[in-house]
Formats: sequence, C-alpha cells, structure tokens
Amino acid sequence: MTADTSLSLRIQMGLERVATAMRADDWASARAAGVNPAQMAVLAALEGRGRGLAVREIASQLGVSQPSATDSINALDRKGLVLRQRDADDARSVRVMLTPAGSDAMAAAQAARSVGGQAVGALAVDQQQDMLVALVAMIRKLQDSGTIPIQRMCVSCRHFRPNAHADALRPHHCTFVDAAFGSQDLRMDCHEHETADPATRAATWAAFTADGGTLQAQTER
Ligand code: SF4
Repeated sequence: MTADTSLSLRIQMGLERVATAMRADDWASARAAGVNPAQMAVLAALEGRGRGLAVREIASQLGVSQPSATDSINALDRKGLVLRQRDADDARSVRVMLTPAGSDAMAAAQAARSVGGQAVGALAVDQQQDMLVALVAMIRKLQDSGTIPIQRMCVSCRHFRPNAHADALRPHHCTFVDAAFGSQDLRMDCHEHETADPATRAATWAAFTADGGTLQAQTER
C-alpha cells in the first residue's frame, strides 16, 4: 500500500467529503435564521452562554480575526439578534450575547439542518458511539496543539470524573448534575461546561483512557 492510500490519509479524505456535504447544512441553517454562515457561526458560539462572550473570545472560538468577528457582530446587532453589554466585572470590557430573537433564530437554524443527520444516520448506534469517542479524541488533540480553542466537551470540564464508577455502562460522573453516565453520553457542547486547568485536563484524559476505559461502555453493549 503506498503512502497516499494510508489509513490516516483516507480518513482525512473521508472527513473532507463529509465536511463538504455538511456545508450545505451551514447555508440552510443560516438562511433559516436570516443571516449568512459567518454570522450563523457567531450565533452558535453565543448559544448557551448566559454571560455572553467578549469579541476577542468570539474571534478565538471561530478562528477568525477580531475585525471579521466585529463585522458579523455589527450585522447581527442591526438585525436585533445580539446585544452588547458592559461586563459587570470589568467596565472597560463589552460582552456580546444573544437576544430572545437570536435564540429563536438559532432554533430555526437547528431545525433546518438535515445533511449531517442523514450522514450520521447511515451508522448503526454502536458505530455512532464509537465515532463520538473518536471525535472527542481528535478534537482534544487539536485543542492541545492550540489549533482550536477549548471546546465545551466533558473531557476538558472540571466537573468530569472519568471511570469513577464500577458500572460498565455508566462509568463516568458529572459533578455538576451529580449523575453517572456512559461514554455514549459524552457532551460535545455542554452549556454547563467549566474549563478545567491544564494539569487537571491532562489527568482527566489519562483517567478517561486508562485500561481501555474510553471504550468501556461500548464493549458492554
Ligand atoms: S457539566 Fe457538562 S461538560 Fe461538564 S462533565 Fe457535566 S455534562 Fe460534561
């Protein structure tokens, strides 16, 4: 097998194909919300953030420059989908948050998505669970290398206690809701997420992957 057909490269090619198809969802959801895809990404970044985000945080989250983020925020402001408020903890700082109309637009956008659901629907439930864990590992790697900012996933959350229970189906624990859960319920964008410090994140990942624990729930199904 030659290098250009390596497993890694073929997986990357597959991800590119899926990403291309899923961009149709981005356009459909943006249209449903009455915005363009760049503005849609800002709305998505703000969803579930009660205190909102500073402009630099939005830019970092989306991997764009602050002027680009500001352009999108200005457009959303004119449409009444976001508002700016002085930060209660820092009067020099402004935070951007969704308005009720912005939340409605997000709901309409979510309802318009279908391509991603079709693709995932091609997988059996156990395959979907394996893919969820694989995606968590890939996203974490990109976070650790600084390629993308910390995402609101369990594995970077200070409330996450991996493999805390003997229950093979629900080995993990969330201290926020004080409940056990399995790897199939790992969150990708949890509104209650609180970023753990780097040392805790490293220890959490080690505990999550220890002794094949990552796949513990799957092996029991
Ligand atoms: S608060 Fe959310 S992200 Fe954190 S461990 Fe609980 S479910 Fe996971």
